[in-house]
Amino acid sequence: MAVLTVLPVDHPMLRRKASRVRGVSAGLRTFVDDMFETMQAHRGAGLAAPQLGRPWRVIVADTGSERFALVNPEVVRASGAAVAEEGCLSLPNWYGPVERATDVTVKGLGLDGTSVRRRLRDLAARVVLHEIDHLDGVIFTDRLVDSEKLRFVDPRSQEAQELRAS
Ligand code: ZN
Repeated sequence: MAVLTVLPVDHPMLRRKASRVRGVSAGLRTFVDDMFETMQAHRGAGLAAPQLGRPWRVIVADTGSERFALVNPEVVRASGAAVAEEGCLSLPNWYGPVERATDVTVKGLGLDGTSVRRRLRDLAARVVLHEIDHLDGVIFTDRLVDSEKLRFVDPRSQEAQELRAS
């Protein structure tokens, strides 16, 4: 396992539409292990393959209560709405308010290659929607409810310890 470099938001990879993955290979599973390790190293709540330079539709999430990977994730149902501060590992220490659905059902492939469907709420829903945006070249700063509210949070501050980026 390895901690990989997270690309910054101005890297062209972050604006590409990622490709669907044809199947879950051993090589892909190794890469997903690296995604988990990289996410953990940055105390992230999620990560998408393009952030690590791979134009593939693969995401990982760690909401504190659960940790999972999804290949070719797709939203099949979304409802509710809430605004909360969001941050991105590709734009370290910057946070801003984004509106997301609060109750989301996603489908995709699990790491064993079989179809999975997950119902996600609140933080888990927010993280997965943020990651799926990455697969379509969308950054959370594109979705700020108020672009003037994007703000820098000192990484040494108490507040930074409570905020989670993805
Ligand atoms: Zn992000």
